[in-house]
Amino acid sequence: MTKFTLPRQDNSLPAPYRGQSPGGDRGLPESQYQNYQLANSQNFLETEDQSLLSGFTLAETYRLAQPSDALEANMAEALHLSRPLLSQGRLADYIPELAKANPDLLGLTILATDGSAYQAGDCDKPFTIQSIAKVALLLKALQLGGFAQVFSRVGMEPSGAPFSEFTTLGDFSDKPSNPFINSGAIVLSSFLAAHINFETFLAFLCQICNNPNLQLDPAVYNSERRTSERNHSLAWELKRLKLLTADLDLSLDFYTKLCSIEVRPRDLAHFGLCLARRGQDAAGQQILRAEDVTTTLALMYTCGLYDGSGEFAVEAGIPAKSGVGGGILAVVPGQYGIGAFGPSLDRNGNSIGGINALKILSHTQGWHVLA
Ligand code: GLN
Repeated sequence: MTKFTLPRQDNSLPAPYRGQSPGGDRGLPESQYQNYQLANSQNFLETEDQSLLSGFTLAETYRLAQPSDALEANMAEALHLSRPLLSQGRLADYIPELAKANPDLLGLTILATDGSAYQAGDCDKPFTIQSIAKVALLLKALQLGGFAQVFSRVGMEPSGAPFSEFTTLGDFSDKPSNPFINSGAIVLSSFLAAHINFETFLAFLCQICNNPNLQLDPAVYNSERRTSERNHSLAWELKRLKLLTADLDLSLDFYTKLCSIEVRPRDLAHFGLCLARRGQDAAGQQILRAEDVTTTLALMYTCGLYDGSGEFAVEAGIPAKSGVGGGILAVVPGQYGIGAFGPSLDRNGNSIGGINALKILSHTQGWHVLA
């Protein structure tokens, strides 16, 4: 464990809560992982009755995790248990440059509000932030335009649909369901593009991530620009609905650029820590309004993982936002900022290993915010 310096936080957030393991309920769906033996994991699972394991798919073994304080060891175990899932996922090959990623990578960085830092697995490789930038986009839009302006343009409802879905622009709502699906993020990109340039947005993200050196990955930016027909179609529909504030090409370019910013898990963990500290950056400066953080965390909890949001809210119970680059930003309010990375994705476009590792950790650490 390494220490970094953070000013003491003076707030009245709840003390760390240690939840109970729900233990092993049976009768879950069968899968090819049914007989997975969980080699070397007995310490972690600490179940006397090994037959309990046989009723679970590998992706469901998090249910057996026991509460524990040993965060660093639990991170390593969570990755160890999640690695076998990586071959079940796929890379985001609809953006050709992202198909070059190594699907075997999986890593986690966690920063605590008490100044502790924890790291496990593959945390050194940079990747593009992709849809996680939509969190900063929402925060900046709330800062510049305020709550009423933002939510006159986008809704605050889960879409229950993939991130590039059209159907939420139906005749009844006439605006994107929420700011985290692509259509909602293009609307907010357009709003920001009418007021600030990309460099100003990047500086804002650098501050939240406590890293002055974040920059665009030009290869991913150009790759997405060349293959963004779907986002172009969404943008034209948004223009028809009069939801674009800036010119269509400028709006799309702003959106594509912010998805192409290169980060590492530590940057995302700092982002999460700033949210966990209700908008205070690493220097103790209040850089976000606390009420904007609350709005953003609520939307991450309900909409941050697209049509995987409900399941994660039930099973992990912490706000999170994913990107197709393989990153996940997660927050344990008042306690931890988390950056996960694993480019092998599940069918919702979320890091398959990252999601599983976070479910396991949430159980071991008792992080579920509603438990
Ligand atoms: N840039 C990606 C896109 O627009 C972002 C999608 C994602 O990360 N879920 O498709």
